[in-house]
Amino acid sequence: MRMLLGGEWVDRATRVEVHDPWDRSLVDTVPQATPADLDRAIENAVEGARISRRTTVYARATILRDTANLVEARSEAFATMIAREGAKTIREARKEVSRAVNTLNVSADQSKRVVGETIPFDSFPGGEGRRGWFERVPVGVVAAITPFNDPLNLVCHKVGPAIASGNAVVLKPATVTPLTALMLCEAFVEAGLPSPVLQCVTGDARRMGDALVTDPRVRMISFTGGVETGRAIAHRAGLKKIGMELGSNSPVVVWEDADFDWSVETCVSGAFWAAGQNCIGVQRLYVHDRIYDRFRDAFAEKAAAYRLGPKLDESTDMGTLIDERSAERVEGWVREARAAGARVLTGGEREGCSMRPTVLENVPLDAKAHREEVFGPTVNLYRVSDLDDTIAQVNSLPFGINAAILTQSVDVAFRAVDELEAGTVLVNDSTDYRLDAMPFGGVKNSGIGREGIRFAIEEMTEPKVVCFRLG
Ligand code: NAP
Repeated sequence: MRMLLGGEWVDRATRVEVHDPWDRSLVDTVPQATPADLDRAIENAVEGARISRRTTVYARATILRDTANLVEARSEAFATMIAREGAKTIREARKEVSRAVNTLNVSADQSKRVVGETIPFDSFPGGEGRRGWFERVPVGVVAAITPFNDPLNLVCHKVGPAIASGNAVVLKPATVTPLTALMLCEAFVEAGLPSPVLQCVTGDARRMGDALVTDPRVRMISFTGGVETGRAIAHRAGLKKIGMELGSNSPVVVWEDADFDWSVETCVSGAFWAAGQNCIGVQRLYVHDRIYDRFRDAFAEKAAAYRLGPKLDESTDMGTLIDERSAERVEGWVREARAAGARVLTGGEREGCSMRPTVLENVPLDAKAHREEVFGPTVNLYRVSDLDDTIAQVNSLPFGINAAILTQSVDVAFRAVDELEAGTVLVNDSTDYRLDAMPFGGVKNSGIGREGIRFAIEEMTEPKVVCFRLG
């Protein structure tokens, strides 16, 4: 496929191969953008921002709605591409497509609610005779930098709100999963989006220069990816807005009175969805002592029953890691934990990019499998009994997107709601629950700002005050 620059599908001599991690087969190639391409993309987007700001809300909403319809009509093609270039199974990929359609439709709805307020200037001496209001105006050019693990919906979470609020976008999808993003761009073009409003540059970020992050014409960086990449980008960004959706190693507490079967089911699914490559995937499971043994056995049994196989096969339960390097890293972290005293209840070994669901207990607190975001199909079980101590353990790490508790006790639930340090606290679901319209993001190292369409629009706009002094 080609990249999208100024309304043209552009090729380059240097091309980057996109492989299916399951069998290393070549899916397609994309051009490697150069620093000059990036400069052109930003230049076009400056013009795009002018056009987008002047496009009526009605037209923006229609384009978003038409794009959603095109994606829906091509659901199976999108799902197949997500499953081929990425790490998800076809069943997981279909769910992502239906969520992406919703994200675009909600963006269309929310475009009509980008509103301000009147300001009561006469509420303080000095304001007499003034009348005015504030509007929310687009920031201008938004750089949207996206990760590999949700190659469609997370792109929609940036491009949808940016267009809804009258911005232009330079999109940089992950090197390993650019094809789904390009298919989305095709849908936007077909839906009539004025061409300078959306640019998509492909290839390795490190080979296209730094302008997306450092160029002052870019007024906001909307980044989703790893903590270290986010930190590096934030250091170089200079004076512009930044939205950071970063990593986590999500905790779930299963209390003694929890609905047992549901707890096992939701936690297993939450741990191994997308082979654990999920920023809200269950990684740390704190289980009450009174049910620990029974929970551990049921959890490990369900995990061991997962079917691995080709991602396009309807019967495959779990796909692969995104590449062999990631699979080696996860296997290495499991090995490190085991050497330091952890017990592997099931899984633990890798074959190529595939790794079976892995369940660990007795993981030492200084092991990477405990401290860091694994971003792979491994989960740690911890035996707990005291609520204060459990909450302290959950909060002891510098991450916090979603945190969850399963309990029938209102008192225990409210303690968790009040004290768990997270962007969202879920009661009686695992951490792997997200409605695309809810405010979504993290505390501590997990991020800055919120997405969730309406909340992303808030980040991608700024208030502009109008004040009339009347005679
Ligand atoms: P990543 O390695 O940090 O890459 C994310 C994006 O940043 C890619 O497009 C990447 O391009 C680009 N990038 C890398 N270095 C850059 C630089 N110096 N300047 C500009 N862009 C740069 O993350 P990933 O491995 O794709 O994704 C996994 C991470 O994303 C996990 O930590 C996960 O938790 C996080 N995530 C968070 C959320 C959330 O909503 N909080 C959602 C999903 C994923 P290249 O591919 O060319 O390197």
